[in-house]
Amino acid sequence: MSIGGMGPGGGHPGGGRRGIDEAAQRAINAQAPEVANLRGRVLRLFAPYRGRILVTCLIVVISAGLGVVPPLLVKRVFDDALFPAGGRPVMGLLAVLVGAMICFYLLTAALNVLQTWLTSTVGNLVTGDLRVRLFEHLQKMELGFFTRTRTGVIQSRLQNDVGGVSSVLTSTLTSILGNVVTVIASLVAMILIDWRLTVVAVILMPILVLVQRRVGQIRARIAGQTQESLSELTAITQETLSVSGVLLAKSFNRQAGEAARYRSENTTQIRLQVRRAMSGQGFFAIVQVLMASVPAIIYLLAGWLIIAGRSGLTAGAIVAFTTVQARLLNPLVGLMRVALDVQTSQALFARIFEYLDLVPAVVDAPDARTVAEAPGPRGRICLDDVTFRYPDAAASSPPILDRVSFTVEPGQHVALVGPSGSGKSTILSLVPRLYDTTTGRVEYAGADVRTLQHSSLVDDVGMVSQETYLFHATIAENLRYARPEATDAELIEACAAANIHHVIVGVEHGYDTVVGERGYRLSGGEKQRIAIARVLLKDPPVLLLDEATSALDTVSERLVQDAIDEVAHGRTTLTVAHRLSTIVDADMIHVIKDGRIIESGSHQELMDLDGIYAELATQQLAVPAHHG
Ligand code: ADP
Repeated sequence: MSIGGMGPGGGHPGGGRRGIDEAAQRAINAQAPEVANLRGRVLRLFAPYRGRILVTCLIVVISAGLGVVPPLLVKRVFDDALFPAGGRPVMGLLAVLVGAMICFYLLTAALNVLQTWLTSTVGNLVTGDLRVRLFEHLQKMELGFFTRTRTGVIQSRLQNDVGGVSSVLTSTLTSILGNVVTVIASLVAMILIDWRLTVVAVILMPILVLVQRRVGQIRARIAGQTQESLSELTAITQETLSVSGVLLAKSFNRQAGEAARYRSENTTQIRLQVRRAMSGQGFFAIVQVLMASVPAIIYLLAGWLIIAGRSGLTAGAIVAFTTVQARLLNPLVGLMRVALDVQTSQALFARIFEYLDLVPAVVDAPDARTVAEAPGPRGRICLDDVTFRYPDAAASSPPILDRVSFTVEPGQHVALVGPSGSGKSTILSLVPRLYDTTTGRVEYAGADVRTLQHSSLVDDVGMVSQETYLFHATIAENLRYARPEATDAELIEACAAANIHHVIVGVEHGYDTVVGERGYRLSGGEKQRIAIARVLLKDPPVLLLDEATSALDTVSERLVQDAIDEVAHGRTTLTVAHRLSTIVDADMIHVIKDGRIIESGSHQELMDLDGIYAELATQQLAVPAHHG
């Protein structure tokens, strides 16, 4: 009576599951989610590329430092070479100085190219890692996550958000470093030339930094909203412009409605993008005007200093000073832009990390064993007092499965029948842990499935569901999904057994025909038979079969049924049956209603019981019984 039903799987408290739901819910609603220690985590992404980053930093420092030299050369050009004290220009010295200047520019340019290459490599490698990590992590999420979250929203995080940080990463790294070094080097050069002019030139800087922070915050908020709206757009596109979506819209004449939905979200997107582009523009404009006006002010100040006779200022010094000072403008503006970008990208990083932090509901226990190490025989399935609610269901709602217990011995054929919505497919999905039970346990090979390595469990289970999913790929590739190393002969053998080989060879490109969403259209029955062939190739000891309801005509049904008989032979089979004719020979039939087993037994036993099954059977089997 262990309602807690935890046993060895006690490490799966309900609280953990609720945590995931909340996280997923936040993922759907959030604009700029809270993520702890965001900066540290972003920095850690760069750790594997330390070496390259170090080299990059070195290059940046060198080239920025070199930038100070030309202005100092300018001072010498003016004071020593062009206008030496009381004499004519010294052409020899002038030539050397000019040559040196050009060399410096060349060197700096070369270093710049190298540095751009290094940073764009590191930036893209980091984003690439992030994209793969996110993809792999999302794959580990339980099925429930994907039923709760729209495909388009997930795609958007992978594409738009990761893409968004990519551009920031590639530019930020060098921009910060290069600009900081340039600013410092320029300041040093300016102080060397004249400290008084320097003080006046930099007096504005602290104010700019303060304003910049505020603009950054506004921008980050808009960025979060923009990405959210972008993911909505992607989701609408993905849902509406797919084959099924278009078909639905066309058949209900809903194109105008869908377009309106798209247009409205698009308007939001435009508004946000413009706001994003415009926020801070006024600020930048003021910065530029101020910075550009500084030289004019410098001239004024220099004149005053010279008149006051306290200067020792030469024409060369003033030209050199204004040259350096002008060089300060771009790096300063650049730094502020970067600071804004960094703030903006934090919103994107937060969205990415939030997904990376989702905890998959189905994870291997640290001491998980393989099926081979389990105590019982392979193929043995046992449900022990299983109660189940879907993860997002209210705790007060009636359970989908209510204290279901039964066992399937190896090699047995057990069938589940009952009204639609009674929970039959749900039972199947608990065996390979597409979901975990709420209470009670599911055992495979004598072990709680939560104590088994998930991949090892899945290897033992073949599933044929009502809806067959085929990739947009050739038939052969779809089949080899089950076993990549399968030979052509094995493919043909499986397809022949599944009654589909003759259909495939009849199509123009045979096994190389592309099927799936935009490929050759197979009928429902043909798809099912390909799915059966796929399971035959996998060759698992257990078969979970969710019979297609009524989609098939009698001929295809016969073909599919023969294929199923073929694949079920010698395997433990748990079938959700809709046509009772297919299960009269089953070893055990459980009748499910409202999540409970209400009758169990062989066909004959259930007929003798004269209950619900007998009633169903007399309706369905009436005709064959006469012929039989
Ligand atoms: P059956 O196979 O007997 O027709 P199912 O097991 O498919 O029944 O469904 C049982 C109940 O669980 C139904 O009421 C259905 O609405 C609900 N259900 C099925 N899948 C989900 C899901 N992913 N999330 C929430 N509820 C679900």
